[in-house]
Amino acid sequence: MNEPSKNWWIIFHKDQILLQKQNDKFSLPCNEQSPIRIPKGSTVHEICILETLPCKAFAIEQSIEESKDYVLTGLRASYDLIPLVQYQAAGKAAEILHWDRNSRFCPVCGTKMIQKETIMKKCPACGNEMYPAISVAILVLIRKEDSLLLVHARNFKGTFNSLVAGFLETGETLEECVAREVKEETGLDIRNITYFANQPWPYPSGLMVGFIADYAGGELQLQDEELSSGAFYTRDNLPELPRKLSLARKMIDWWLENGK
Ligand SMILES: [Zn+2]
Repeated sequence: MNEPSKNWWIIFHKDQILLQKQNDKFSLPCNEQSPIRIPKGSTVHEICILETLPCKAFAIEQSIEESKDYVLTGLRASYDLIPLVQYQAAGKAAEILHWDRNSRFCPVCGTKMIQKETIMKKCPACGNEMYPAISVAILVLIRKEDSLLLVHARNFKGTFNSLVAGFLETGETLEECVAREVKEETGLDIRNITYFANQPWPYPSGLMVGFIADYAGGELQLQDEELSSGAFYTRDNLPELPRKLSLARKMIDWWLENGK
């Protein structure tokens, strides 16, 4: 008889994820059985294969008591605690659980949707298929001589400053989105808009696409509803920066290492 195989278990209570603690090291739980009883009627989602073992995810309504072996922590905070591949799998699981909660009924005819695949549901009445929606947002690092533009948006969770960001609108290219967001939020014109990198952003279900650009003209005029502060900063005069997990921080670190 084959030995029962192990699974990674990604278990969310709201935005908190269950981590196992062994010898002061954290990881996703990895066992044959879930460390928590799977609530009746809940879907266990197959997320991905991680180091040859399946990753399974489900959500629990009731919080659980933490112990010396198991703790609950925010997904963002887990970035500093668990290996990157585990954080990435947990991020994907968070997006799929978010989608599952928000796609219970067919938006065409109102019938209860049926899960067919990890990322596909189908309406048994009208045949409508649904897939997780990903919100695309841009980030832009604007250079001006030996400084870069950092802003504090009112929706930031914390006191740090970061890059100008905004959501892609329908019918728009990414570069058009970058130019529009910068104009709307700061009043500035930019040029040399160049792709830098991208990153899944599971808060709750996004993709961040980063661009570098150069200041081309205009006076800094902040859009008051979105931004509470913003300025060009030189490297010896930087404010509090975003945390290491974000693409924004990777871009700022790149600028710090690579000069103007
Ligand atoms: Zn339908």
